[in-house]
Amino acid sequence: RERVREILSSVTERSDNRLGVEAMEIFDAYGIPTPEGAVVDDPAEAERIAEGIGEEVVMKIVSPDILHKSDIGGVKVGVPVAEVGDAYEDLVSRARNYQPDATILGVQIQELIDLDDGVETIVGSHTDPQFGPLVMFGLGGVFVEIMEDTTFRLAPVGRDEAAEMTEEIEAAPLLRGARGREAVDLDSVVDAVRRVSQLVADFPSIVELDVNPLVATPDGVRAVDLRLTVD
Ligand code: ADP
Ligand code: MG
Repeated sequence: RERVREILSSVTERSDNRLGVEAMEIFDAYGIPTPEGAVVDDPAEAERIAEGIGEEVVMKIVSPDILHKSDIGGVKVGVPVAEVGDAYEDLVSRARNYQPDATILGVQIQELIDLDDGVETIVGSHTDPQFGPLVMFGLGGVFVEIMEDTTFRLAPVGRDEAAEMTEEIEAAPLLRGARGREAVDLDSVVDAVRRVSQLVADFPSIVELDVNPLVATPDGVRAVDLRLTVD
């Protein structure tokens, strides 16, 4: 709790009170699984970290000025370890081209999650002026705004309510393993929704939060991207 408070208070005016990868540690505190990884600020360090993670990794630009990383080519999925150094330089130059005065904190190196039998979901929250913190669950990924397959509850939710949420979205059959696909580990999805709802209920200063995607696979869930706004 103390650590969560510390991280939340690290937001600055400059970053519009938003936190991204800096807030990953909050999820550790709440028992929400995240991929293995680290943020580095030079290509050699990027290679070193990648070698410890796997043969291929995911790399993402880390900048408070870049909200949607893939929109500017700021996410590389499945980079072979040997190409990590070059990919680092490429990500930074893409960010500079996009916004010359952007603050670039470095590059996040992440474990590559197998999306072949995974489903990208979203778990989010915002504070309703009348009802207080709401928790949202739905189909996630980069097309989330187009699909709009989401459902809401007052936070916090218990197991049963969280389970209901995973059952009532349109994409629910995808989670259950439609068309010969393996089902995802629904218990861990339910657990993640419950834990996120508890986090925002415990910390009313989190006025907005998005875990997108929370990748659900037959083996569990991983929160691979996170952003939140603190008031
Ligand atoms: P942003 O939303 O800022 O564009 P994300 O971190 O959500 O950046 O990455 C965009 C997309 O890249 C995700 O929706 C997912 O499809 C893919 N992706 C991101 N991280 C991973 C990962 N660790 N393993 C596999 N795929 C990933
Ligand atoms: Mg995302």
